[in-house]
Amino acid sequence: MRLFATFRDIQHDLQKGTLSCIDLVQHHLTNIKDKAHLNAFLSVYEDEALARAAEVDHKIKQGNAGKLAGLVVALKDVLSHAQHPLQASSKILDGFIAQYNATAVQRLLDEDAIIIGRNNCDEFAMGSSNENSAFGPVLNDIDNTRVPGGSSGGSAVAVQADMCRISLGSDTGGSVRQPAAFCGIVGLKPTYSRISRYGLAAYASSFDCIGIFGTCVEDVALVLEVIAGPDENDSTVSHTPVPAYTSTVSSPEKKYRIAYLSESQLAGGLQPEIKNALTDTINKLRSTGHEVEAVELPLIDFFLPTYYILATAEASSNLSRYDGVRYGYRSTNGTDLHSMYKKTRSEGFSKEVQRRILLGTFVLSSSYYDAYYSRAQKVRRIIRNKTKEIFARYDFILMPASPTTAFKIGEHLADPIEMYLADLFSVHANVAGVPGISIPCGTDDQGLPIGLQLIADDFEEEKLLTAARMVMNLN
Ligand code: GLN
Repeated sequence: MRLFATFRDIQHDLQKGTLSCIDLVQHHLTNIKDKAHLNAFLSVYEDEALARAAEVDHKIKQGNAGKLAGLVVALKDVLSHAQHPLQASSKILDGFIAQYNATAVQRLLDEDAIIIGRNNCDEFAMGSSNENSAFGPVLNDIDNTRVPGGSSGGSAVAVQADMCRISLGSDTGGSVRQPAAFCGIVGLKPTYSRISRYGLAAYASSFDCIGIFGTCVEDVALVLEVIAGPDENDSTVSHTPVPAYTSTVSSPEKKYRIAYLSESQLAGGLQPEIKNALTDTINKLRSTGHEVEAVELPLIDFFLPTYYILATAEASSNLSRYDGVRYGYRSTNGTDLHSMYKKTRSEGFSKEVQRRILLGTFVLSSSYYDAYYSRAQKVRRIIRNKTKEIFARYDFILMPASPTTAFKIGEHLADPIEMYLADLFSVHANVAGVPGISIPCGTDDQGLPIGLQLIADDFEEEKLLTAARMVMNLN
């Protein structure tokens, strides 16, 4: 099948009748089979996707197909898809079948998208390399000895290896933008509350965001337009109107004011080729008439501690529901109710998830609550205010999506702190609650993709998507 630059081009051929949804599903199914070793999928809905493709083909002929007719989508294993397995890549949810559709999933289906399968990820979305899955690591398609990033690694690889056109992931602390960078694709984390979290397995509720992977900004804009907006099942969703992102994403270029991280703040641990890609992009932006200035991001040293204190605190509370009674796995080694709870949780959760629950329980314990949890909440507020001060002067902040390109499988496994440090640039947008997008900007000396990130103020996705497309076209 020929390569399509955008989903709009696919739709054009579907309308003409030179392409069918069945062709599209078969094309992706072939790639899924050929690249099964990447371990990107936990389930593939072959028959179901083909049957649905036939239905959508019929609707296209009748002229009553939805906006996403022919869009083949994969879902990270944290999204509820009625009557399909949902496990958050954890043993503790063994055998669990989702009872309802997440709002985002329902909205995709309502517009005739075709769901092809469920993607591997880090257990409960905790991780930066997809090595924490109960189903084994996902491999990067560009170099199979390297990680795809995490936690939405399977979803990123599914798009990278053309196993679907779009995938949905979740971004609590960078889990869409960092794997997008490692895999050379586009990854959007919208403003917190832009997309309903109904049906998204909770990790850290005040950070969790559904995010979108695609090969181009136009496709991501289209999906956001469909899934964003108010939802009666999630009272935290914003009622800010959802713009028609697709009608502005290719609009004539405006001149922007862009801030970038000053030299001193970029220094430690940044891979030289990423720094060069950033400098190159800055020069191109300047030469095309944009104002680009260095800023100091206040409190950068507090991004990671703030994130890891608050995210683990929320995780320890959210994950208390997995007790062996209500969902999935139950240990048979318990001798009474209490030992059944304990054994279920010790056997069902991996070491990393247990580490997060322990950390979170510690920072919430009465003797340490003020020293850690409430202090981190205050710091979070200051980080948000300071970030918004930057947006009073600039349209965007430009920075790397990650300090390195895709690292080797096993490279950071021995030291969790080293793994957490890799999230430096990605957690900022989550701590501040603002939208961010990672776009591919060249490769390093070994041919591994480099991702740069643009961050904007609350609900400025329209501007963010337009600028992201412009920056992608500079390269
Ligand atoms: N790497 C981060 C963590 O482990 C991000 C996870 C995420 O965004 N889901 O918490």
